[in-house]
Amino acid sequence: MIDRTLLSEQAISDRLDGLAREIDLAYAGREILAIGVLKGSVFFMTDLLKRVTNPVVVDFLQVRSYAGTQSSGNIQLVHDLSMDVENKDVLLFEDVVDTGLTLRKMLELLSSRKPRSLRVASLLKKDLHENADITVDFLGFTIGKEFVVGYGLDLDERFRNLPYIAIWDPTR
Ligand code: 5GP
Repeated sequence: MIDRTLLSEQAISDRLDGLAREIDLAYAGREILAIGVLKGSVFFMTDLLKRVTNPVVVDFLQVRSYAGTQSSGNIQLVHDLSMDVENKDVLLFEDVVDTGLTLRKMLELLSSRKPRSLRVASLLKKDLHENADITVDFLGFTIGKEFVVGYGLDLDERFRNLPYIAIWDPTR
């Protein structure tokens, strides 16, 4: 069951204000091709992009990597982009970087398509040695190892619409 709130709606909103300013500065008026990774990043991406003043176009891709609370270690592209990324300033939106396996695969895939630039925005990154070498250009929060739900993050498709992020305790 849901154990406790880790990040409140207000804390998330305040952090998004800061991230939007960082993004506007980094792209300095250039058009951003924002790519959301379905489905978890959608809440984060849309709330953040509403605060960005740079011109933005939006696309999505979907990969499958998890069943329940355990990593399957297997990444599969289930929905590809509708746009060409060549020569575009691509900003990839993730919900959480856990082991980093999913992000590594997506960065590999996207960089092979020759974008002009490729950066990453992630709401959360878990503090783990497995992902320590992964750079998230625009990071919301660093969290512990716990499994979290809410604000786009699910447990078997549930809880995505919670407006805050909570820790899921499988033993309760
Ligand atoms: P990674 O490949 O980095 O291990 O896992 C990335 C994906 O696993 C995330 O995009 C997310 O879908 C899922 N995931 C990893 N940790 C969590 C978590 O704590 N809660 C939820 N709901 N999903 C997670």
